[in-house]
Amino acid sequence: MRQSVLELMGITKVYTMGDNQVHALRGISMRIEEGEMVSIMGPSGCGKSTFLQIAGCLDRPTSGQVLINGAEVASLKDEQLAKIRNRYLGFIFQSFNLLPHETALDNVMVPLQYAGVPRKKGEEAAKEALAAVGLEKRMHHRPNELSGGQRQRVAIARAIVNRPSIVLADEPTGALDQASGKEVMGILQKLNAEGRTIVVVTHDANVARYAQRIVEFCDGSIIRDEAVARVEAPVRPAEMDARVPAPPPGQKVCARCGYGNRPQARFCANCGASLELRPELSETIMRRILGLQVPCPRCGVSNRPFARFCIGCGGSMDPSAMVQAIR
Ligand code: ADP
Ligand code: MG
Repeated sequence: MRQSVLELMGITKVYTMGDNQVHALRGISMRIEEGEMVSIMGPSGCGKSTFLQIAGCLDRPTSGQVLINGAEVASLKDEQLAKIRNRYLGFIFQSFNLLPHETALDNVMVPLQYAGVPRKKGEEAAKEALAAVGLEKRMHHRPNELSGGQRQRVAIARAIVNRPSIVLADEPTGALDQASGKEVMGILQKLNAEGRTIVVVTHDANVARYAQRIVEFCDGSIIRDEAVARVEAPVRPAEMDARVPAPPPGQKVCARCGYGNRPQARFCANCGASLELRPELSETIMRRILGLQVPCPRCGVSNRPFARFCIGCGGSMDPSAMVQAIR
């Protein structure tokens, strides 16, 4: 039997919201072996993200055990968990979580800086990671000068720059058009062929087919777990990348959705997010990708990295809502 890189045993998760209890996971057990590519599939609300956050030590289960490379992580303190994450786990999110004012290269270097890698060495590793996703020619571009697919590839480069044994992706194609989504899955398949273990969460059966094992969730339980013949997603040569035109001068490009707004606009006409990105927002994004606790902008109470609502004041922890709260 190959070594299991990730093992979950009897995981349950109950969220308490006032008097209500939400049973997000009802006893999940799963073993993932080195070199596997697994899709976790199921409808919205069935517990996929909760599962991935627990598997990735971004949150703790209500009961059950998580083993990473054979070692139980429950007894570790938050700071130790952050180190484990930084060393063994890479994360990819639906909304890329890139720092809007930093170049692709600097974005990819964030986990290395946190790990204390010297800048020069970090730069080499980041360039290598960007080359692995076909973006070496775009390393000095900022997120608003990149297409959605390219942004997600920067996020993938950031996820692999530490050479983690496991890459966890939560709806990595969810914000992309079909062609870019296919391309992102092609890159994940390529990384898997190079030996990385990959776990992809998706509600889309067409996306799930790119893995060789599909685990289906329903209402917090596993209802199917089987090996499948995977569909190959071709990786397009990098030179076929559509050139993303630089935004017209003066336009304010929304860091959340990429929409070009009038120069005077304060909020995005497309998605409503604030166009003035405060340093606090970058700090939040940074803490999230590193898996560190995030302070609530209203009451200052520390929350888990991807909390939806503050455990102190109950306010939304959505980054765009946060910016508006800070204003
Ligand atoms: P999926 O990713 O499959 O859409 P989630 O794991 O996000 O599912 O959610 C599973 C269930 O847990 C849902 O009913 C959701 O509303 C609830 N849930 C998730 N996160 C929280 C939270 N922080 N607080 C309260 N309920 C939550
Ligand atoms: Mg989800």
